[in-house]
Order: sequence, then structure tokens, then C-alpha cells
Amino acid sequence: MARRQKIKKPDMWGQYKAAERRVGYDAQSRAEWLLQFRGLDLPKIPEEGQEGVRWDAFSFTHPLERTEIIAMGWGEDDLPSWDDVRKAQRAFWVMLGVFRRGHNYYLKLGSWKAVMSVKDRPIRGQPLTWELPFRDAFLIRVYLDLTEFGNKGGRLRFCERKSCGRPFLAKAKHKMHCSESCARAERTKRWRQKNREKFREYRKQLYAKKIKATLGAKVTPQRSHAKDRA
Ligand SMILES: [Zn+2]
Repeated sequence: MARRQKIKKPDMWGQYKAAERRVGYDAQSRAEWLLQFRGLDLPKIPEEGQEGVRWDAFSFTHPLERTEIIAMGWGEDDLPSWDDVRKAQRAFWVMLGVFRRGHNYYLKLGSWKAVMSVKDRPIRGQPLTWELPFRDAFLIRVYLDLTEFGNKGGRLRFCERKSCGRPFLAKAKHKMHCSESCARAERTKRWRQKNREKFREYRKQLYAKKIKATLGAKVTPQRSHAKDRA
């Protein structure tokens, strides 16, 4: 019964998008969906109504980009079974019960732990990383900080100057270089490129004029003549 049911291929994307709309896209509507999910009387939902709930739970749990869904190939990440959904709801009830009694909730997933608290303030969460290997703890911190930075509109970019490529935090949307000196170097390079073409064009015209002057009209300038004749 707890076996995962495969998602039928053809309308998966449509089903997923519909569930995503029901769950919502921002933190507020997702939190609202979660409390609504908490109140569902799952044992009373008839079989034909279960699929929608399973899709909602799936979409809430895996907010994905379309490209990710395609890359995933769908077969691997299946729709949760009805049993999975009920277990998830029960686990959430336990969490809420802990909050209600004014305690912190400790989340333990394998060797990964986190603590959540709602006491007298907005919900806070903190991963408890000291039991992990240092590298893993470090990467969890990097993940948390950089995604939070990104969610608040922060941009991590790499300097567009080829010889540099250094990572930098772009304060403005249009900033493409790590420093003023790299930006200046690139501007100079671009200016030179542009003007080199202009200069070449100018020299070609000058050469044509000279040829015309010495050999008379209707001669097309060809540079290699001197060598051919020799
Ligand atoms: Zn740079």
C-alpha cells in the first residue's frame, strides 16, 4: 500500500501546474495551503478525490522548474502514495503540537538536524550542524546563506573580463565586472576593437586612392601584386 504510484506521463505537466496554482507560489500562500492541508480529514476523502490532494502535496514538497521536471524524467520522483500523504500530515500535526506547547521542534533527517521555534516571534529555523563532518556543515551554511541572499534579490556573478572571471556580488542589475578596474579594462578593449576596424577601413581607402593616383582609374587595389611579379 505504501508503494509509490507512477505518474501517468501525458498530462503530468498540466496536473503539476494546476496543483502549483492551488498551493500558491509565495511563502504566504504556501503557508496558508499548509494549514489547510493540516485540517483535511484525509480518511474521509473518497478515492477519486485523493489524486488531487496527492498532486498538491507533491507540488508543495517539490516546487520545481519545468526544466528540472524534464531533467528528472518524472519516473524517479513519483507522486506520493495516499499513505505517504497521510504520514506527512501526521508528522506536521506532531510539529504543530510541539509548537502549541511552547517548545522547540527538532527535525532529524538522517544525521541532519534542525531546530524550529515560533515562540513570541516569527518562525525561526536553524540547522544543527555540529555533529556533521565540517565540510557538510559548511556546505549547508553556504546553501542557506546564498539562497537567502538570492531570495532577497542578491546576485552572484562572475566577472565578464575573460582574464579575470572572479566571482562578485553585483549590487546593480547591470554590473557585469568585479571591479571598476576590470570594467575600465573591458571598455578600453572594446573601444580599441571598434577603432581598429575603423582604422583598417581608413587605411584601405587611403591605399586605394594612392593606387588610383599612380596607375590611373579603374584599378582595383590588390596588395599581393608586388610579390607575384617577383
Ligand atoms: Zn574582474
